Amino acid sequence: MTPARISPQRLRQRMEHLGTIGRGDSGGISRPPFSPAHVEAVRLVAQMMREAGLDPGVDEFGNLIGLGAGGDGPVLLAGSHLDTVPDGGMFDGGLGVVAAVEAAQTLRDAGRRLRHRLAVIAFADEEGHAFDIGTLSSRALVGEIPRSRLETLRDRSGQSLNEYLRARAHGLPVARVPEHAAAYVELHVEQGPVLERMGRAVAAVDSITGILRTTLTFEGRAAHAGTTPMTARADALVGAAELVVAMRELALQHKDRAVGTVGRLSVYPGATNVIPGRVDLSVEARSPGEHELDDLRVAVEQRAQRIAGQEGLRLTVGSWDRSPPVPMDPGVRDAVVQALQTCGQPSLTLPSWAGHDAGVLARYIPSGMIFVASTAGLSHSPREHTPWETAAIGAQVLLETLLILDSAKDATRRLPVAYASQ
Ligand SMILES: [Zn+2]
Repeated sequence: MTPARISPQRLRQRMEHLGTIGRGDSGGISRPPFSPAHVEAVRLVAQMMREAGLDPGVDEFGNLIGLGAGGDGPVLLAGSHLDTVPDGGMFDGGLGVVAAVEAAQTLRDAGRRLRHRLAVIAFADEEGHAFDIGTLSSRALVGEIPRSRLETLRDRSGQSLNEYLRARAHGLPVARVPEHAAAYVELHVEQGPVLERMGRAVAAVDSITGILRTTLTFEGRAAHAGTTPMTARADALVGAAELVVAMRELALQHKDRAVGTVGRLSVYPGATNVIPGRVDLSVEARSPGEHELDDLRVAVEQRAQRIAGQEGLRLTVGSWDRSPPVPMDPGVRDAVVQALQTCGQPSLTLPSWAGHDAGVLARYIPSGMIFVASTAGLSHSPREHTPWETAAIGAQVLLETLLILDSAKDATRRLPVAYASQ
């Protein structure tokens, strides 16, 4: 049998070509979903799909789908997203799409016939930048965002999502993601420094982080910053500052299993010569573990109460928004681990600290992820990079994972695709 070996040169050429689309003066990529740059990227990747023997089309939610040859049996899905944050990097999302196309083309060129039909998917809006909903396109696909809500969405320029979808500016035929799917595999850049620090190129992902968010308000007494003695103050910002420091301490108690951030402070009245009377803080904690999230929620509230008591402040805790951790399918994770070994890479599993489309699909079909190292841990930055050799290893791991899943016994489940019936 001809070995199915990814071509590192072709992978790099295709990535560099894709990386010219939406590139600004800083070297960063700006491809908001449905923008002219995004449409151009969709067209380019559709062309790559044709070269790989995949039949490209775009579904009613704007997702590009390249269907491989084969019957009506369950599909093996692989892919990622083509949108970027403003001034982002060329690897976030794009690498997962191009690697999936490469895997399909390499398998076809090697004459490997799979039992499953292969389908590559490039989600339109993962970053959530345009319409303020993360993983918008994958959640729309599975019906998690009601049509009535989709119809009201407008981006910053005032253009409605519906208008974009109806315009079909890419000129590609209508396609649908088949509803019977054996698995979804997404290769993605790690976007953090863990792999690089370990001296590793690739890892299997075992879960996608859970996220806890709320807003806290400390209220004290706004007063003259000169005439009010230090001992007679109720300074809301002093309390907020103590909580910022406490967030770090509370997250660190869980070692590498949790992170915590205060990303936004609003200080009122916000004048140089007035003691802050009120501060609103955003609080975010992430962990791949349910237990850690529960623990952090209690600990943050208790600490905030204690600070309020000590500083003479009134505390209000907003409602907590909690998205639970999403475990990756053990079968897909094990297939990735086995693929790592096939590619001569040490076994390694890591959690993902960022959300991904795989986290959405995992609620319905067996799903998994492959992480490749990010240079200096940078992402959402013009300086985002993954060494080309590492990218090629990742693509080979993806290919081997697809082969392993293809030979595994099917536990096919239905993806509840929310297409309008025709
Ligand atoms: Zn991404």
